[in-house]
Amino acid sequence: MATIFSKIISGEIPSYKVAENQDFLAFLDINPNAKGHTLCIPKKETNRLFDLSMDEYTALMQFSYSVAKAIEKVVECNRVGLSVIGLEVPHVHVHLIPLNEMKNAQFTHKENLTSEAYQSLAADIAEAYKSQN
Ligand code: 5GP
Repeated sequence: MATIFSKIISGEIPSYKVAENQDFLAFLDINPNAKGHTLCIPKKETNRLFDLSMDEYTALMQFSYSVAKAIEKVVECNRVGLSVIGLEVPHVHVHLIPLNEMKNAQFTHKENLTSEAYQSLAADIAEAYKSQN
């Protein structure tokens, strides 16, 4: 059965996309630890991070690097943190999380954003991503 993230890739489930290329997609997390919390995923469905080949892993990290740079340009934060968990969705994803305080790194702390805020944030990060690629 297709994962929820494969359904996002196919467009069956909507998302706030921030970056895309042939192999990867980045979109805003729907239940963010902090404003700008973004998920980077390979389009090829793979369960665990270390199920990826070394080349796939490296390419995912390169994509995530570019997305993090775009987030840094748009979201005021001390730094962008990176985390890989995967206990909820069995489709590899890199969490990129703007950090100001330790609670932003804790998946128990969540922020509420309006759909307008999601939309404009995604558009701004997408523009920053395009301008550097
Ligand atoms: P993990 O699998 O790393 O524990 O967490 C999965 C992440 O995916 C969570 O942060 C959750 O908010 C996010 N997530 C789950 N379902 C959706 C969805 O349908 N859309 C988006 N944008 N994010 C989702």
